[in-house]
Amino acid sequence: MSVDLTRRLGDRVAIVTGGSGGIGLATARRFAAEGAFVVIADIDAVAGEAAASEVAGAFRLVDVADQEQVDALFDGVAADFGRLDIAFNNAGISPADDDSIETTELPAWQRVQDVNLKSVYLCSRAALRHMAPAGRGSIINTASFVALLGSATSQISYTASKGGVLALTRELGVQFARQGVRVNALCPGPVNTPLLQELFAKDPERAQRRLVHVPMGRFAEPEELAAAVAFLASDDASFITATAFVVDGGITNAYVTPL
Ligand code: NAD
Repeated sequence: MSVDLTRRLGDRVAIVTGGSGGIGLATARRFAAEGAFVVIADIDAVAGEAAASEVAGAFRLVDVADQEQVDALFDGVAADFGRLDIAFNNAGISPADDDSIETTELPAWQRVQDVNLKSVYLCSRAALRHMAPAGRGSIINTASFVALLGSATSQISYTASKGGVLALTRELGVQFARQGVRVNALCPGPVNTPLLQELFAKDPERAQRRLVHVPMGRFAEPEELAAAVAFLASDDASFITATAFVVDGGITNAYVTPL
């Protein structure tokens, strides 16, 4: 029997939050290339509509921090397309006013918690309402390597939010393991996306300071994360759940890096 690996996600319906750019966009492209129907959910309608038409999918204008909008997204996709197989809960922010704990004020803290962590709770809950009764599904929540490592170039709310994403994901993976739904966290190292470019353009010294810790000596490209997400979404990952799936060029296991 031959297996057509290019159709690994054939006939699956996937939601990608933050799919208008960066890791989400690369993943939307990869999902579509592997046969999935992709719904891009984002606050950036212009880029989102363009991405959806490129992958022959659909776009939904959604703020992932808003409960009503998230519920409408997941219920609407299940109703409109008949199923929901994959939820890549990936939208996140890394604003400049989230920095050292000494200078980060409550509004900045709260906004990051809402977009990065509350959203994952809302999206996971909405996805599970459809996946658990169907007895199948794969949820991938984007955490970060900073959920595993402390950083002296702090973004305190961001780091705390990603730690929360990781813990929440692990718990859901365990709880729903016997109901056919796998829930995994993606922990990217630094990825060459607008989110990182913006941060480093403001402070090149910070970029250099971080780069030295990457054994591979470079940041990841979004496509390298997309390949990992497609794997986690597919049946090739059928025995993988509740994990912190690390794609970081070796950072989290490094002591002294090559010159
Ligand atoms: P990006 O800024 O390139 O893309 C993020 C997308 O999310 C954008 O399209 C943006 O419009 C969307 N978005 C922002 N707020 C939203 C909201 N409230 N509702 C809906 N959509 C919203 O970022 P990226 O680098 O692709 O990051 C994707 C995820 O990966 C984030 O969760 C980020 O924290 C995480 N991550 C990124 C890196 C990195 O180095 N780039 C490293 C580790 C983890």
